[in-house]
Formats: sequence, structure tokens, C-alpha cells
Amino acid sequence: MRMTVIGTGYVGVVHAATLADLGHEVLGADIDEERISALAAGIPPVYEPGLRELLQRTVASGRLRFTTDMARAARFAPVHFVCVGTPQLPGSKSADLRSVEAVVDALAPHLAPGDLIVGKSTVPVGTAARLAERLRRTAPGAGIAWNPEFLREGFAVRDSASPERIVVGVASGHDEAVLREVYAPMLRDGVPFFRTDPNTAELVKVASNSFLATKISFINAMAEVCDAAGADVLTLAEAVGADPRIGPRFLQPGLGFGGSCFPKDIRGFMARAEELGVGSAVAFLQEVDDINTRQRTRTVELARGLVGGAFDGTNVAVLGAAFKPDSDDVRDSPALAVSRAIRHEGARVRVHDPEALDNARGLAPELQYTLDVPKACEEADLVLHLTPWPEYQAIDPALLAAQVRRPTVVDARHALDAAMWRRAGWSLHAPGRPQPE
Ligand code: NAD
Repeated sequence: MRMTVIGTGYVGVVHAATLADLGHEVLGADIDEERISALAAGIPPVYEPGLRELLQRTVASGRLRFTTDMARAARFAPVHFVCVGTPQLPGSKSADLRSVEAVVDALAPHLAPGDLIVGKSTVPVGTAARLAERLRRTAPGAGIAWNPEFLREGFAVRDSASPERIVVGVASGHDEAVLREVYAPMLRDGVPFFRTDPNTAELVKVASNSFLATKISFINAMAEVCDAAGADVLTLAEAVGADPRIGPRFLQPGLGFGGSCFPKDIRGFMARAEELGVGSAVAFLQEVDDINTRQRTRTVELARGLVGGAFDGTNVAVLGAAFKPDSDDVRDSPALAVSRAIRHEGARVRVHDPEALDNARGLAPELQYTLDVPKACEEADLVLHLTPWPEYQAIDPALLAAQVRRPTVVDARHALDAAMWRRAGWSLHAPGRPQPE
């Protein structure tokens, strides 16, 4: 089949390459010309494990091409996936839908009856219905469906090729049939397929993210209680998660969630629920958001205490800038938020990250950056482990101790081998875990 994918960020580029890998003929479109020329040469715009190989393979096959010409995209195929960003509107909790609307408006004049626009972006419930109304005027006979994306950054290629489920919100049997054909190889592999109406499909996405964010904030709230009570949140999480009704996944305490999805999705959900007159039904998400933000302040407070009550004149080394490992995404990264707060209070902050430094530099130019862990830790009064890249678990703490001024480390992600670090002479602090006597 022929199809286009509009918006070639984390979601779009992976979706386009996955569809081409399934055998479809795909045209990727974006307004960012630099991005499109790089993509045409097989250079991915973002870091995701396996993406470079997948992109190069599908571009070389001739089944994946790119353009900035939206009219060409509209005429290229009868199916158009919309994967543009829906960030939080500045000064508001609501989602900014201007990019989604711009794509629909750009495609509309060139669409033929029967053509289908398929939204993958995360949007407030009711968006597809509103866009359908708009299309009725600008492209009579064209349809709109919603097929939310569930991929996780860091696992995007794998998640996209083998999703846990495909959810399609469609207005007709014809639209369902089109989407079944797009995903036919996955359906043959047994991937569960949920056909629903567009409202429900849009809600499945924000409800999923809200549940996951709640689970993370729940265990981080338990970490706060453990700190006060002298209990151990890691053992607690393991024992609580052993109940199959609860399960161990997403029950890892730490620095909380960040990135371009959970924070803005739960806020957008609250705003939309308010509009629908059911704000109180999801008011608990405000608490989820507050607990999450508090993990950042708690980490800053712990760090401040460990350097003697004030950051002025101290050197702080930070391991990790991305909002999660295996990603170069620094949007609403807890690691960067903590680093910036500490810098703001007067510390010299040197940040290491294997993939996210370019993005971090753009967002937080006041911090110092290095690709070398020992250099980041040179003369440090405190080391903060904020993004659990696997390579940090392979650090030899004895060797690193020789670099620093004081061997004190905060493991905000509970990923370091605490006993090994302590044996190597480090004072290791992990929120929610008691300090050994
Ligand atoms: P992104 O910011 O990485 O990429 C968006 C792309 O859209 C950019 O390349 C931008 O240039 C392009 N774009 C913007 N306006 C355009 C226009 N008018 N025409 C054509 N292209 C345009 O965003 P993302 O992280 O890929 O997220 C996209 C959507 O998917 C969002 O709604 C997000 O909430 C959702 N989502 C993201 C993830 C994730 O892990 N990143 C997972 C699931 C769902």
C-alpha cells in the first residue's frame, strides 16, 4: 500500500520506517527541511537504538522517501498518518493542537473522497470529531480516524514493530478495513486489535499514560514515607509488586517521570476533563503531577544537605541528562531540571550523557558538558546519578573515587550497586532507602 507519515520526530520517523519495513511504499513529510534532507540520506533526526539501521535499510530499498511538499504528500497516497507534536500550550495545561490542525488544513485541498487521515499524535478527546467537522467543509468525502501511538522512547523501534496492541478509532467499516490492511502483517502475528470510535481511541492513550504516571508517583510517594519511617522502598516495591494484581513494572522508585509525554499528557487530560465538566474525576492527577515534581526538589534538598547546606563554590558532577536511558530526549528531563536548580544555587555543574549532550546544551547552556565520566567527576564534591544509562552501572567506583574531592554519590535511580560503591569508600545516598549504620 501507499501511505504518508507527516511529522518525522520520535514517533513519525520510527512509524514511517516500520511501515516501509512491512513492505509499504511510504512518503515521510515534515516542515523541517534540514531534517528531511538528512532523512533522505538515511540520517535519523533522533537517537533510538536500531533506528539508524532500520532507516538506512528502508531508504535503500526505495520504499521510504521524504518530502517537505505537503501537496505532493497529499496526492501521493490515500492514507496519511499524522505524527506531529502536541506540546503543552505555554501558560496553560492544555495541549497545543496547532500543528495537527495545520497538517489537516494543508492536506485537505488535495484529498479525494475516500482518502483517510489517521491521527497518531496524542490529543484531547474530541479532537478527531472536531477535525472531521472541519474536513466536511474542506475535503468532502475524506475521513478521519485516530490510531494512538504507544511506543516508548528507548524502545521505539522494537515497540513499533511488535506493539502490545493496535487501537483504531474509526467512523466506518471502510476506515477499519484500510487500517487492518496497513497493519495486516502484525495482525497475522497475533497483535491484539481494538476497533472503537475515535473518542474512545483518543482516551485510551491518555488513560494509559495517566495510569502509568500514577503508578510511578504512587511508589515515589511511598519512598517519601519510607524516608520518614526508616523503611526501604526497594524491598517494599518488590514485595508489593509480587502481587500479580499490582505487578512489578512501573513500580520503580526514583526521580520521577519526565519527557515529552507523561507530564503534558496528564495536564492536558485535566484541562480537557475540566472543559467536559468532569474535572473532579481526574483531579487526582494534580497530586500525581505534584508528587512527581517533588522528587526533583527532594533530590536538590538531599544534595544541598550533602554539600554542607549551600551549593556556592561546590563542584557537582551529574551522570545523565536525557529523561531516560537509551534516548537523547531532554524535554522535561528530571536530570536536567535538578542540574539547573543546583547550578542556579551557585554550584559548578558538569553533566555527562552518552547521547543527549547536543540537545541538553540547547536547552541548558548554563551547564558544563563532557562526554567523559571521569572528567565530569574531576574535583567533584558530589556526584549525582540521575539517568540510569547502563554504562553507569559498569563504572568502577574505586577508580572514580580517585577523581573526586569527596566520594559522595546520590543514586536517585536506584541503579548503582550500593554495596560495591560503599566498599570502594563512597558515601552512597538513595532516596527512600535507609543509610547503613
Ligand atoms: P517530535 O517533536 O519529536 O516531532 C514532531 C515533528 O513534527 C517534527 O519533526 C516537526 O518538525 C514536525 N512538524 C511540526 N509541525 C508540522 C507540520 N505542520 N507539518 C509537518 N510536520 C510538522 O514529536 P514526537 O515526540 O514524535 O511526538 C509526536 C506525537 O506523538 C505527540 O502528540 C506525542 O505526544 C505523541 N507520542 C509521542 C511519543 C514519544 O515517545 N515521543 C510516544 C507516543 C505518542
